[in-house]
Amino acid sequence: MIKIFGQNDPRIADYAESVFKPQDKTLKEIRGRAADAGLPDIHVGAMDGLHLEILTRGFKVKKAVEIGTLAGYSGVNICRGLQEGGKLFTFEMSERNAEVARESFKKAGVDKLVEIFVGPALDNLSKITKQGPFDLVFIDADKANYPAYLNWAAENLAVGGVVLGDNTFAWGTVADTEFDSPQDEKQAKSLDQFNRALAAHPAFRSTVIPTGEGLTLGVKIKHI
Ligand code: SAM
Repeated sequence: MIKIFGQNDPRIADYAESVFKPQDKTLKEIRGRAADAGLPDIHVGAMDGLHLEILTRGFKVKKAVEIGTLAGYSGVNICRGLQEGGKLFTFEMSERNAEVARESFKKAGVDKLVEIFVGPALDNLSKITKQGPFDLVFIDADKANYPAYLNWAAENLAVGGVVLGDNTFAWGTVADTEFDSPQDEKQAKSLDQFNRALAAHPAFRSTVIPTGEGLTLGVKIKHI
């Protein structure tokens, strides 16, 4: 099921985009170039990209981590919100996607702020732990590993830092008990597990923002 920003009402979604203008030429170009390169159109929505920039600014993020780079669309939004001297560590499984993302970061003028790690994120995250603690972890990759990514974030975020999980309404199925396929069920269960683990985590205060996709957000309030 496709869910869109703005209470699933296209008029509200159009209204929000026309007022807040979340996507400039640079971001539009990334979507176009990614499509030309044959990448799937699974970037965050334009308003969700703007949320990422605003949250990055609001939390005064200096060190950000992103799991799931794709073509760099959300990464550029995060970079735009970073504090002076800030850095984005972004993790991507596919070299092909990373190649497109490198070009995106260059075209957006943020390539000096970004380090891309190619391969399974769970294998590569340990390469940056020494550079932590981090101020923001944005999770937007394979759903089965969201709970594991949350564990990494809980250990490696600074107190006051934020973890964000995208797609946490599981395309409208997170509260379902019956599914169209075992794969849909597995995905929904992982996202449910992630939401419940973050909601109950003693180190976090958390909520879910009802974007089209569901954006779960937890602020680390203490070390445990
Ligand atoms: N955050 C991107 C944006 O909005 O511009 C979109 C990310 S897309 C939804 C998910 C990405 O995660 C894909 O590019 C996919 O190749 C990558 N991915 C999937 N499994 C992964 C893994 N185990 N480790 C790292 N990246 C992974």
